[in-house]
Amino acid sequence: MSKFVRPFGKENQTASPVRAAGCAKCGKNGYAALRVALRLDPAKPAETVFWKKQCVFCGTIARYRGRAADGTEKEFPAFYMPYSNGRGFSVKSRDFYLPADLYTTEDGKADVAKKVRLVAQVARLAEQNPKRSEFSWAEINSSLDKV
Ligand SMILES: [Zn+2]
Repeated sequence: MSKFVRPFGKENQTASPVRAAGCAKCGKNGYAALRVALRLDPAKPAETVFWKKQCVFCGTIARYRGRAADGTEKEFPAFYMPYSNGRGFSVKSRDFYLPADLYTTEDGKADVAKKVRLVAQVARLAEQNPKRSEFSWAEINSSLDKV
């Protein structure tokens, strides 16, 4: 009679041969979810626009391979917004957060193209200034016309 060996439990626990993915630059296990925010009013809390996956040791922002608008493969910084139901996240600018009055038209509709443009500006600043987690409206607005 053969002994029944269960496929789970303590006797089957072995360390995974695959190391947890470390930072692409320094190799340390330092990736953390850090927020990128927009502060409209110095007296009020900043609004979280999106989150970034960044190494806390060297400041490297993780990158992922995706597709550009023309279908070619391209690397993007790991900026994302978790879904409110807690299942997964989106990397699309239109799913990131901005206070609605920043992109609402006079007749009360959401100008999504404007929202995406503003978010892209925050993303650009966040990539250029990896050590900063907060940007002011003046910075976003003043650099918009240079795009
Ligand atoms: Zn690092």
